[in-house]
Amino acid sequence: MQDKDDAFFIADLSDIVRKYKTWKRELPRVEPFYAVKCNDNAGVLSVLAELGTGFDCTSKLEISKIMDLKVSPSRVIYANPYKQSSHIRYAAKNDVALMTFDNISELHKVKANHPNAKLVVRILPPNSTKAQSELGMKFGAHPKDVPKLLKTAKDLGLNVVGVSFHVGSGCYDPTAFPAAVASARAVFDMGETAGFHFDLLDIGGGFPGQKSAKISFEAICGPLRSALDAYFPESKGVRIIAEPGRFFVASAFTLAVNIIAKRAVVGEEIADDNTSSGDVEPKFMYYVNDGVYGSFNCSVFGGVDLKAEVFEHYADEPLFTCSIWGPTCDGIDCLKDETQLPEMHIGDWLFFHDMGAYTMCAATRFNAMPKTRSYYVMQESAWIQIEHHMNEEDLQSFPLSPAVKSPVVEFSTSPLAAYNLA
Ligand code: PLP
Repeated sequence: MQDKDDAFFIADLSDIVRKYKTWKRELPRVEPFYAVKCNDNAGVLSVLAELGTGFDCTSKLEISKIMDLKVSPSRVIYANPYKQSSHIRYAAKNDVALMTFDNISELHKVKANHPNAKLVVRILPPNSTKAQSELGMKFGAHPKDVPKLLKTAKDLGLNVVGVSFHVGSGCYDPTAFPAAVASARAVFDMGETAGFHFDLLDIGGGFPGQKSAKISFEAICGPLRSALDAYFPESKGVRIIAEPGRFFVASAFTLAVNIIAKRAVVGEEIADDNTSSGDVEPKFMYYVNDGVYGSFNCSVFGGVDLKAEVFEHYADEPLFTCSIWGPTCDGIDCLKDETQLPEMHIGDWLFFHDMGAYTMCAATRFNAMPKTRSYYVMQESAWIQIEHHMNEEDLQSFPLSPAVKSPVVEFSTSPLAAYNLA
């Protein structure tokens, strides 16, 4: 049961539809397989399933969520190079065949648990350090080690069908994708030498998902398109997929948090009445009901600049220096150690945009704080686009709640009603 003052997400699902159209425009040759780990919210998965994307899953439970949406197993890649044996067996039972690997012991595990898998060798891309979250220290075989991996696969009678890479999450280097595509081309040749016929290139994730990112999606896609056309021309018939996470969901979610407590600090002293009255300008400490152990965990990993927004009626108020703290009893639970806001009061709301990627999915329940819920809205035009995409039967079984169908969402709690989606 949601309390009136609990933190909440507003998810604008039309934003996901817009992203899908942008993807199709910029990378028409690349099929997106959405990375479920980034945000496994039911509304997100349902909209993407209806739009026809594939899905990149990391575990048994992620696969099962996608199977529950009646998505064909051919639209799933189990893109975790280090898989639990029982999870591999679950994939086999559900006819999920595509899966990645980057080491020899994984090949033995796949042989034992899913001998008919279609394996994709994950390589270490050459430039993967200019990213919000680097992955190269944990994943990816160096291309020089690939021939040995392929020989083992051949000896075991396994089927390797292609190459994958990941340039790092939140990549801001426009040369990273083209360099990785060139490297993948060389590994395709190794595949031929080892007696395989590779016909799949998986260019991973790493695409920016919000306007404030260091680089735009379009600036990443231009050089990438040219590299794909140069190294994998359409005439060669190689299927190209990607595993975007952040791209699809980052900007769709806004997080609203409630100010549950406040302190005013004047000089070194805590002010008794917690207000701005007096001669010396106070600084304020605001305590809100979601924090770094919850949806703001993304801020711990760096590269995130949290910016609190307030309701319009505060727009002309004077600004004061303040800090913003999460709700748990841990001193590190701090969202912003210094920022500027009008003087806020207990019960006021703060808003954080672009909170859809790697937020609620990695939130803990530390201090038994409630998990922040999401409310969906969708513009009518986006809804109609999805509707037209579907046949009548699919439409009937569309698993979103009826509230999503309506362009006008009515909320009983006042902050939601006042929130302006434009
Ligand atoms: N694919 C794999 C294998 C990943 O590990 C990740 C993120 O860690 C993704 C895709 C999604 O990356 P992004 O959200 O940067 O697009």
